[in-house]
Formats: sequence, C-alpha cells, structure tokens
Amino acid sequence: MIQSSVVTQPRVGANPGAPLVRHHARVPGKDTNIGAKRAREARAALGLGTAEPVPCILTTLERDAAVPVALAALPAQIAGCVWSGAGRALVWANGAQPPARVRFTLAHELGHLRCGHDAHLAIDSFETLSGVTSDAREVQANAFAAELLMPAAGVRALVDSGEPTLETVVLLAAHFGVSTIAALYRLNTLGLAARYARLKEEIDGGLHVEVWERLDPPRPDDALERLRAEDLPRLSPAIAGSALAALLDGAASADEVAALIGCEAGLVARAAGLVGA
Ligand SMILES: [Zn+2]
Repeated sequence: MIQSSVVTQPRVGANPGAPLVRHHARVPGKDTNIGAKRAREARAALGLGTAEPVPCILTTLERDAAVPVALAALPAQIAGCVWSGAGRALVWANGAQPPARVRFTLAHELGHLRCGHDAHLAIDSFETLSGVTSDAREVQANAFAAELLMPAAGVRALVDSGEPTLETVVLLAAHFGVSTIAALYRLNTLGLAARYARLKEEIDGGLHVEVWERLDPPRPDDALERLRAEDLPRLSPAIAGSALAALLDGAASADEVAALIGCEAGLVARAAGLVGA
C-alpha cells in the first residue's frame, strides 16, 4: 500500500456530513473497454498476474508474445509503429527516449497487434500516446497499454484510500515502470485522482523531479534500463541475422533509420520485409 503523506483535515463549518472529496470515475468509452479487455486477456495469456507490474516489457514482447522489436534512435516526436501481415509482425520504437516512455510505446504497439488492427496504421507520435487522439484504434491501444502496464486491480490495491499526493503518483509510476504523467492519467481514468488538476500542474511545473530524487523508489528490472545510446539500433535476437540487421549495421544514423521506417506507414512494410519470414 502506498501511503499518502498528506492528511486532509476535516473542514469545520458548512455541511459537515458531506464527504470531503467528491470524485467520480469517468465512464470509460467503448474503445477504452475493448483495449482494457484485450490487455487483461494478454496478461493471462502471457503469464502475467492480474495486478503485478510487467517486469521487462522487452521480454514480454520478444520472448512471451514472439513479436520482434527494433529499437532505434528516431526523430524526437516519433514514439514507434507496428507492422503486421502474412503471419509476421515487427514493432519499431524510439529507443532514444527514457525507459518509461519506451515501455509505454512497446505496450501500445503490442496493443495494436492484440486488438487485431490492420497494417494501415499511422506512425505513433508521443502526442497520440499521451491520449491526444480520437482514432478508435489509438484509443484502444492506449487503453491496452495502460491496463497492461498498470492493471486496474494493482493500482487500486496500492491507492485504495486517501487522496493521492505527488509522492503517491511518483511511487505508483516507479512501481509500474511508467512516467509520472502516465501514472497520473491512470489514476484519473480510474477515478482515483481527486486532486487531478493540482497534481497535473505540479508535474507540468517539474515538481516531481525532486520527489523522484528524494524517494529514489525501486523500478521494475527492465532491460530497457540498461540500454545505452551506443546500443542502438538494437534488434531482437530473432531478427538479428536478417537483411534489416545487415542494413542497419552498415547505415545506422538516426536519419537513415528514420528514413527506413518512414513517416508514411506504408514504408514500415518495406522495413518489415527486410526481416524475412
Ligand atoms: Zn498507435
């Protein structure tokens, strides 16, 4: 249980019988429900429990879901993309970003696959992954990623009482290996962030950085934590000997890799084709 460090004092005066905090869970839409359901099914199929953190998302994709991953230094606004067809799939992710972001990207791309989305998906920007989208498939993939990385049962078990403070949000983010803002969004979606606007302001103002430094909370032991810039591009062992690997070995500047996957979704198929069957 994550303890909140701020105790709300009862207010004296008006309407003392009313609850101090009125907060209602937002009613999730159809696509949010679809993504969350697919994530619960995926957790069961991949041997994850109903509440615990995903230890290593790379292992989940590469070994457990048998989805090869290419991590590369991509332009800053690009989070990743996925291609699937003819019984094969390939996930790209921007490996130059902080591990918590890459974890969310990989979970989102796995969501596209597990939700059965077709090959004509756009490249995912960080804006899309932060929820700025009305595309049903993106809403589903974001809901999938949220439930896969921060299962509702696990979040509720940690913060089932009290008002979450910035410390609570940081501890939650660390526990599940996500960014501070992703943890806050999750709390809000589940109706657990009574002080959402205030907490969002604090995170936007960078106040969480000091909290991370002070608490230094343990995070999941994800291989992404040990990934260095010089390790990029990094391909899954399953595709290490492919034509794609050979190409990247010879010409692996960030611009060239970005050109290879393209900002047009159709080019992802070309890159995937280089992996071979
Ligand atoms: Zn997407």
